[in-house]
Amino acid sequence: MGLIVQKFGGTSVGSVERILNVAECVKQETERGNNVVVVVSAMGKSTDQLVKLAKEISPQPDKREMDMLLTTGEQVTIALLSMALNQKGLQAVSFTGWQAGIVTEPVHGNARITKIDTVAIESQISVGKVVIVAGFQGITENGEITTLGRGGSDTTAVALAAALKADKCDIYTDVTGVFTTDPRFIKKARKLLSVSYDEMLELANLGAGVLHPRAVEFAKNYNVRLEVRSSMEKIEGTVIEGEATMEQNLVVRGVAFEEEITKVTVLGLANSLTSLSTIFTTLAGNHINVDIIIQSTTEAETANLSFSIKTEDLMETLRVLEDNKESLNYEQLDAENKLAKVSIVGSGMISNPGVAARMFEVLAANNIQVKMVSTSEIKVSAVVEEKNMLKAVEVLHEAFGLSHSA
Ligand code: ADP
Ligand code: ASP
Ligand code: MG
Repeated sequence: MGLIVQKFGGTSVGSVERILNVAECVKQETERGNNVVVVVSAMGKSTDQLVKLAKEISPQPDKREMDMLLTTGEQVTIALLSMALNQKGLQAVSFTGWQAGIVTEPVHGNARITKIDTVAIESQISVGKVVIVAGFQGITENGEITTLGRGGSDTTAVALAAALKADKCDIYTDVTGVFTTDPRFIKKARKLLSVSYDEMLELANLGAGVLHPRAVEFAKNYNVRLEVRSSMEKIEGTVIEGEATMEQNLVVRGVAFEEEITKVTVLGLANSLTSLSTIFTTLAGNHINVDIIIQSTTEAETANLSFSIKTEDLMETLRVLEDNKESLNYEQLDAENKLAKVSIVGSGMISNPGVAARMFEVLAANNIQVKMVSTSEIKVSAVVEEKNMLKAVEVLHEAFGLSHSA
């Protein structure tokens, strides 16, 4: 008898009909002779609605209370799904994160899973029950409820699959697999049969919301067999594994994009050996995530430094830089909003020089100005104006041979 972890996202459990459909899918898996652990998200857009409620009360709600609020969304779904399975004649039991033994670091809003005590789940499996676990949540060693960051139910599922040594983890969602780019925006996007862990990790980190980046990290570290597939259509999905099969020898496998990027420029920064480290240590100390960094090196006494952040972090970034103006020793700050990051990803890039050059050529030919650039062995990212983002994705998708022909 095998063990399968199935995860169903918000849209897939968005109504009573859909929950009944999920129950049917779980039932079929048990009929194939497998034990099943199911992880679910909150119904439909209910997490967004909870966030909205909180924001109506306070612009910056207390993070602990926010976690207390958001974790209720998943609790609704686990109970309803358990009832639906009972109706279909299956024995089931629902667990919140802490009941499932999911322990996290003491961080509210974006906690990492540190340990999973699987005793409670295993004892229920051993008496033949389907175990349903609330995604996206855990508990600290001190008994505080935490969340794993938006989209974190994927991570709950993969981490459980790793801890339970499951044979497979199936992520059921509202698309039929991982595509060459977001099929909701680019109609010519093609479904990939397989993607490597490394490529998927880059795509997820660079904005492809189909999988939570930490879920891919877990899958890679613990070698979890992962498949992204549709909860509506019974067709093959996309397998995420060590080495992906190369389809058509493509160098680029996918295009990811992310909006709401801001470029911050620090003008007239004193040109000392330690000025860079002081700025980035100060920002990191205030939990501000800096992405791309550009410094114009000059022989002069001062230099200019630019870096990109998420726009939601702008206020905090400016506050930190202004509060520390004297010690950081700069003249002026400037911020450019309404930017986006477009990235091409593919492990074939390692052995193919000229991919970045081709990317810039294509963007230039379409009159798209590149504001910042960053590269790694398997990706090139370009920051462009937000208004050019989808155009950039479309032309790159086409130029690197990713579009389907129909
Ligand atoms: P769930 O609620 O099931 O977790 P999500 O909305 O988090 O679903 O993720 C699925 C969505 O991810 C799709 O509807 C699609 O718009 C988006 N997406 C972004 N990039 C990709 C991609 N490369 N392949 C497939 N889907 C993608
Ligand atoms: N419900 C949470 C969210 O909307 C977690 C998840 O769906 O993965 O972000
Ligand atoms: Mg998701």
